[in-house]
Amino acid sequence: MVNEMESKISAAEWEVMRVVWAQDKVTSKEIIDVLQQKKDWKPATTKTFIGRLVKKGILHTEEEGRKFLYSSAVNESDFINSTLDETFEHICNKDVGNAIVNLLSNATLSFKDIDKIEKVIEMKKKEAVEEIPCNCVPGQCRCNNCSSGH
Ligand SMILES: [Zn+2]
Repeated sequence: MVNEMESKISAAEWEVMRVVWAQDKVTSKEIIDVLQQKKDWKPATTKTFIGRLVKKGILHTEEEGRKFLYSSAVNESDFINSTLDETFEHICNKDVGNAIVNLLSNATLSFKDIDKIEKVIEMKKKEAVEEIPCNCVPGQCRCNNCSSGH
C-alpha cells in the first residue's frame, strides 16, 4: 500500500521512478545515464533525487558486490492510481465528472481502451444519480455557498 506521504513526489522524482519501474533493479549509474540523455541532468542532480526517494521509503537499496542496486518499494500502477485518487480528493464531488471528461478528451486512446471505457460507462449508467451532493467544507467550495445561502 502507498500512504499519503509516500505518494507525494516531485516531477523530477517521477523521472527517476520511471527508470526504476521500467527495469526492476537498477544501479545509480543506469538511472543517471537515462536521465542524462533525457533531461541533461548532471550525475549529482540525479543522485540527489535518488537519495530523496530512498529517504521517503519509495526506493529500496541493496548492496550487491561493490555497487548498490535500487528497486521500487511501490507497485507502479498502485502508485499511479493513488496519485490520481489523491488529485480527485482535492476537488468537489460535483466537479469530478467534468475533470474526467477533460482527461478523456485529452487522452489518445486505442480501440481496446475505448471498449474498456464503454463497459465502465454502461455500469455507471446503472448507478447514476440525479444530483451529486457537494462534500466540501464551507468556505472551500462555491457550490457549498449556494446550497447553504439560498
Ligand atoms: Zn463542493
